[in-house]
Amino acid sequence: MRKVVIIGTGPAGLTAGIYAARAGFKPLIYAGLQHGGQLTTTTEVENFPGFATGIMGPQLMSEMAAQAERVGASILYEEVERVDFSQQPLRIWAGNQEVEAKTVIIATGATARTLKLENEAALMGRGVSTCATCDGFFYKGKKVMVIGGGDSAMEEALYLANLCKEVLLVHRRDDFRASKIMLERAQAHSVIRFMTPYSAVRLLSDDNGLTAVELKNEKSSEILKETVDGLFYGIGHSPNSGLFRDFVQLDEHGYIVVKNHTETGVPGVFAAGDIADPVFKQAITAAGMGCQAAIQAARFIEASA
Ligand code: NAP
Repeated sequence: MRKVVIIGTGPAGLTAGIYAARAGFKPLIYAGLQHGGQLTTTTEVENFPGFATGIMGPQLMSEMAAQAERVGASILYEEVERVDFSQQPLRIWAGNQEVEAKTVIIATGATARTLKLENEAALMGRGVSTCATCDGFFYKGKKVMVIGGGDSAMEEALYLANLCKEVLLVHRRDDFRASKIMLERAQAHSVIRFMTPYSAVRLLSDDNGLTAVELKNEKSSEILKETVDGLFYGIGHSPNSGLFRDFVQLDEHGYIVVKNHTETGVPGVFAAGDIADPVFKQAITAAGMGCQAAIQAARFIEASA
């Protein structure tokens, strides 16, 4: 039986792995389909402390994985198919194998929603982004577009408005899901121009990346082209919590509800990073939660020894 099993290899899972390994628990970490999590789809990361000249997202994650393995964590490149947290020992099935564990740290993250337009995947990090806090800096003084009508889109637009010369806020309806205060703040900002009801239908690019976005008016079906340097999706995130829904409490958006830092309410089951954090969603906050989860798992193991 494993003392600590970690599901996920983003900053939360790998930090939990480093702490649990250094505490002597020889954690097993399941990598899942997207090894390294969301940072593997970004380019340069300039806001993770410790890298004076920045670091590429995939490199940061492979360094974290190497660090976890060096201190004694094992990473298994299998996807967890099923779990049973109804009693101790906790049980996890992956790659036709069943593993029993005293504690499990869920760090499966969230996936930023995108429109799945043609070319979109190839343009990620080359004009298309899902995170203004991560990539906004690269668009200083430029013209960008944000898509979405919720609080995330308003937040992204307001963040970008402090850096960019023009921010187009494009939303498919005339009504907004965003809270009144966030909407009014964005509407009052001189740099942000609202465009409704429009949907993005095509991404145009050259060898350097995105050059323009084709928009369709949802009422008149008129098509127009907006030249932009960057496009930011603010259409929400989907937490990767489906596997756990029968055992832990989820909020109305599917995020795992945690109390006392990372406790899920199921003895021995902890959650860290974007799967349990609809607010900050940063690599560094995920890493911080991973550390908390590993320490709380260690305390649980010691208390029940
Ligand atoms: P959200 O409230 O679900 O809003 C998503 C927005 O994206 C909606 O306006 C939706 O349009 C649009 N959208 C979704 N799919 C789309 C598609 N395929 N094409 C075009 N548009 C699409 O998500 P969120 O903004 O990420 O917020 C999630 C939760 O976190 C909310 O409770 C929010 O209040 C909270 N949050 C709070 C803050 C803050 O307080 N600072 C910041 C961020 C998030 P429709 O409206 O037409 O469906």
